[in-house]
Amino acid sequence: MATSPSAARAATRTLSVDEALSRVLARIAPLDAVEMPLLDALGAVLAEDAVADRDVPPFRNSAMDGYAVRGADVSRAGTRLEVIGAVAAGAMPKGTVGRGQAMRIMTGAPMPDGADTVVRVEDTDNGSQMVAIRKATSIGTAVRQAGEDLRSGETILRKGTLLRPADIGVLASIGRAKVLAVRRPNVAVLSTGDELVDVGDVPGPGQIRDANRYSISAAVRATGCAAFELGIARDEASDLRHALGNAAFGDVVVTSGGVSVGDHDHVKPVVDAMGSMDFWSIAIRPGRPLAFGELRTKRGAVPIFGLPGNPVSSLLTFELFVRPALLKLAGHARLFRPRAKAKLLDRIEKPTGLRMFARGVYDAEAGTVRSTGPQGSGILRSMSLANCLIDIPEAPPAAEPGETVTVVRTDLPEDH
Ligand code: AMP
Ligand code: MG
Repeated sequence: MATSPSAARAATRTLSVDEALSRVLARIAPLDAVEMPLLDALGAVLAEDAVADRDVPPFRNSAMDGYAVRGADVSRAGTRLEVIGAVAAGAMPKGTVGRGQAMRIMTGAPMPDGADTVVRVEDTDNGSQMVAIRKATSIGTAVRQAGEDLRSGETILRKGTLLRPADIGVLASIGRAKVLAVRRPNVAVLSTGDELVDVGDVPGPGQIRDANRYSISAAVRATGCAAFELGIARDEASDLRHALGNAAFGDVVVTSGGVSVGDHDHVKPVVDAMGSMDFWSIAIRPGRPLAFGELRTKRGAVPIFGLPGNPVSSLLTFELFVRPALLKLAGHARLFRPRAKAKLLDRIEKPTGLRMFARGVYDAEAGTVRSTGPQGSGILRSMSLANCLIDIPEAPPAAEPGETVTVVRTDLPEDH
């Protein structure tokens, strides 16, 4: 993206959360659709209408283990019928069921000609030569009609459908070994910081373990995308340049740390040299600094998010800005989590003029929410304990007990 005058202005002023989000989404377009093996399409967005190639079920069959009969013969209990044979699932019935006759039949087996009703085995004496009907059964009982699930030629799933397990089953039943669906975004995840060591290493003096690469990669996967990790870049421009050279093989790059104005914060200048980066100060707590831009690569421009380093800030800004962007990239129509109103149980202090997303525990039954305790941007446990975000507007200096607040249901999938 060329740095437009408005982008330059944006770099110097504070954006609201909504402004920043709409700027991000305006620059994201859905990825192309590709043909993929059916199971790989779970969680992907269907990019074609799926049409049934035949009726499902393809033939009239029994819904129960029992006896296929003429309904007129079993309108009263106590009738005895001659058993003329048996038919199992996957076999074809031999013979026609006439008056006073029955054929043993298993669930899923094709109905024999002449029969229109199945009497459950539990409602008979289970006889093999003759069978006694113990319960009156009405005509049509326990028979599944051809095409009662899907009709040949019918459009079963429309383009744009987010494929769930049941949809995958429906597609299998109409013979779709492969489907056309929007490609799953591939997201490069990079941590930056001289103080970071990997999860398996013992931190030395002044060092901490890299939490963000794991939380962010996990959040990428939880969004239905693939994450590839680029490790930890040191706080040196050359190391960052090298790492971002590999990052550009992704559809999106997400870094954490190094976007503040400290002496060792190199993300913005390095990305500027490799593409362009807007540095946004967002009126949000936590997560104020957020950088967004793109890397120039041989494959074209690759969007890059520079998230703040504090573990809560990075995961929270991922949730608010990166997740909707990834969903849009993956072709989703619904980008935002459900919201609810709740009565706040405790007091939450916040800076005036910043929109606060406190981590909360929402009780849907009681209609209440409380914060998870200390809300510092380094206290990742506040997120681990939470099932929602409490969205408190910019103006007030606190939210008070008893107040009605809005919660973002981060425990539920997007609904709008
Ligand atoms: P920065 O944004 O680089 O100034 O980092 C802000 C704070 O977040 C510092 O206390 C860092 O040590 C911490 N931090 C940065 N990256 C990570 C990470 N990957 N895992 C855990 N903490 C981090
Ligand atoms: Mg740092």
